[in-house]
Amino acid sequence: MKYLSTRGQSPAQSFSEILLGGLAPDGGLYLPETYPHFSADDLNRMRGMNYRELAFEVLSRFATDIPADDLKAIIDKTYMADVYCNVREGENAEDITPLHTLEPNLHLLCLSNGPTIAFKDMAMQLLGNLFEYVLDKAGQDINILGATSGDTGSSAEYAMRGKHNVNVFMLSPHGKMSRFQTAQMFSLQDANIFNIAVNGVFDDCQDIVKAVSNDHAFKAANKIGAVNSINWGRVAAQIVYYFKGYFAATDDNSQQVSFAVPSGNFGNVCAGHIARMMGLPIKHLLVATNENDVLDEFFRTGVYRPRGSANTYHTSSPSMDISKASNFERFVFDLVGRDGDKVRGLWTEVDKGGAFDLASTTLSEQSAFAKVPEFGFQSGASSHAHRMETIRHTWETYGVMIDTHTADGLKVALEQREADVPMLVLETALPAKFEDSIREALGCDPVRPASMQDLESLPQRFVVMDADAEAIKRFLVEKTA
Ligand SMILES: *Cc1c(COP(=O)(O)O)cnc(C)c1O
Repeated sequence: MKYLSTRGQSPAQSFSEILLGGLAPDGGLYLPETYPHFSADDLNRMRGMNYRELAFEVLSRFATDIPADDLKAIIDKTYMADVYCNVREGENAEDITPLHTLEPNLHLLCLSNGPTIAFKDMAMQLLGNLFEYVLDKAGQDINILGATSGDTGSSAEYAMRGKHNVNVFMLSPHGKMSRFQTAQMFSLQDANIFNIAVNGVFDDCQDIVKAVSNDHAFKAANKIGAVNSINWGRVAAQIVYYFKGYFAATDDNSQQVSFAVPSGNFGNVCAGHIARMMGLPIKHLLVATNENDVLDEFFRTGVYRPRGSANTYHTSSPSMDISKASNFERFVFDLVGRDGDKVRGLWTEVDKGGAFDLASTTLSEQSAFAKVPEFGFQSGASSHAHRMETIRHTWETYGVMIDTHTADGLKVALEQREADVPMLVLETALPAKFEDSIREALGCDPVRPASMQDLESLPQRFVVMDADAEAIKRFLVEKTA
């Protein structure tokens, strides 16, 4: 299996070759040259599989340059019940992604039972083990530099802690994360994890990462890498739980289901799109946004219009507060018939701060937007008031506590579900992660997983630095010498 760039001007690469990188050299994102397809017989065979077996079945089609036995070993040590152990009472951690039924044909697919209690652990834990494997083989090492406002940073650190050949330098705005998030990251004592609390805001942290990445000589000399949401390995890992959820919610493979996906960078729902292209019987993929509704606007109108920072809102589902949806280009590539020239043209506008409209037609051509229904996509958006209402409704009706991001998904699911089609809402974080919002909605504290009871009282390991890219470069060089 080779990988192509959505902008059509980069040489085809293997899975291992693109694993450690980010964007393709032409600025595009990597996608497989064709999607593998599961036949009816394949799906029948897969129905009885556990998570690890399913993951191998799916990922072995993508990671074709990793020997099967090695890939199996990597998957087996990643998807273990004692890693994804933060389950609700009554759920089985062996399921890895348990299905929690709220009422007939309405389910939560619980993706947030990993070490940082958010769905990013599903992919990031695999990535940690894949990175270690590929780097070991190549005799290389890597220094991951990232910026976080709380969520991605912690899942990257928990995935990379203690790994050979990998160091993580994570910038966060000093004093701006919640006590829980701060404790989650800073309590890690592993020698390869460096928490840098920057005197500034999240944008300052991100600017430093950009400045370092743009210093090509420094980047090459110090083997700087990233684990951002466009990483193909992350998207591939996320495809697996769509299969797992489908089999758990249906009795046989003649049935269709729909998924509602709380969305920001479009990584999660992009994996659902690929699962559908691979033959999984998905009727609808509901893209659920918060007030940052660039994706909902596209699926309603055909216009994709990324926002500036002045129009990007801080909301109570902060992990979905995005101005542009970085993985969206992957779907548009498929929507326009995998025409790299076309995608390059569209993103020339976007990269200049502009927008594009796929609903516009020429005489000779049906609009690309008219093809969206063939891909099963629908969308909806919600506000803070909707989230509070949905959290209350879910608690009162089903006795289940959900977080604000999952509430964005469930709100749209309740509006758009069809009576006879099972609806699976992806649970992207546990409520314990967003205590303030739960207190506001329900007037009580969320339950914490047992392993996190005393998180804030653990010793913390971090350094405080000014928002000075040169000083941070010196720190990195010193620590990796
Ligand atoms: C990252 C994240 C999302 C958004 O996922 P995308 O793949 O960026 O669309 C939703 N909810 C939570 C809790 C997240 O951490």
